[in-house]
Amino acid sequence: AKSQGGGRQVFYQEEMSHSLTRQLAMEQALRKAIEQNELLLHYQPQFAAESQALIGAEALIRWQPKNGPSVSPAVFIPIAEETGLIVPIGNWVTRTACRQAVAWMQQGLSQPFLISVNVSLRQFQEPDFVASIIAILEETTLPPELLVLEITESIAMSDEREAVEKLLALKDRGIQIAMDDFGTGYSSLAVLKRYQVDKLKIDQAFVRDIGENEEQSTIIEAILAMAASLKVEVIAEGVETHSQYLFLKERGCGAIQGYYFGKPLAVADFEGRFLR
Ligand code: C2E
Ligand code: CA
Ligand code: CA
Ligand code: CA
Repeated sequence: AKSQGGGRQVFYQEEMSHSLTRQLAMEQALRKAIEQNELLLHYQPQFAAESQALIGAEALIRWQPKNGPSVSPAVFIPIAEETGLIVPIGNWVTRTACRQAVAWMQQGLSQPFLISVNVSLRQFQEPDFVASIIAILEETTLPPELLVLEITESIAMSDEREAVEKLLALKDRGIQIAMDDFGTGYSSLAVLKRYQVDKLKIDQAFVRDIGENEEQSTIIEAILAMAASLKVEVIAEGVETHSQYLFLKERGCGAIQGYYFGKPLAVADFEGRFLR
């Protein structure tokens, strides 16, 4: 039994140093990716539930190495967060998405067109976060009301007073705040009220189980009722089927995002579908 325990110990250390090496290699590769312009954005369309009109898009980052398979944001965003690289990456994402939205509206895309950008906690915590967002809006000339910043419940774990201050400063400018992945954390009504968010996004984990799991369907109904009483707009994500769409629409969910209506698209594909 003793040698078995020792063996496990060694195995454990090897695993750890292996993953540390991998992480360092990934960090180096990510720095190179930034320099060599291997990062790009895809845009996933969002629709009004009732009219099915296009109302906006969420910018989603992609890493496509010059030679090699693309890397999922689920893999590299956590590393970018740990290393702080998320700060320059996040600014690049926001600038690129705002610039793209302005260009599309000039090319005749139906308006108002809301552009949503994901903001990670690490980025939000930067002392000059608000200033950098405002600078990007001025630089790109995007009207602030057309920018939606998607934050997560994780900001509830940061310095609360500072978080509220930043959110109010952004809202003062007209920028909209959406609570992403709603329902997956420990938050709720209290968080929505405290941060005065404009929208919440029902996490796809709940949407997936519509019609299959009665309990989850009840959770969605509760979220929609709560949002209505708080006058918070709701967008459901991960909508993949017609029956999920119908369920959500019939219960007052205002907006829909998901493969059923459109996957995240490269710029040219987005234009092919919505600009001509
Ligand atoms: P998220 O913000 O929750 O984005 C939604 C994810 O669900 C996206 O995955 C999207 O492609 C996927 N999705 C959309 N519709 C459907 C559907 O109908 N079914 C299913 N199964 N999936 C759907 P993606 O693009 O791989 O992004 C993963 C996560 O990476 C995002 O989750 C977000 O947390 C993060 N991320 C992506 N881009 C950025 C970024 O620019 N900045 C930051 N900080 N995080 C980002
Ligand atoms: Ca999001
Ligand atoms: Ca989400
Ligand atoms: Ca998510």
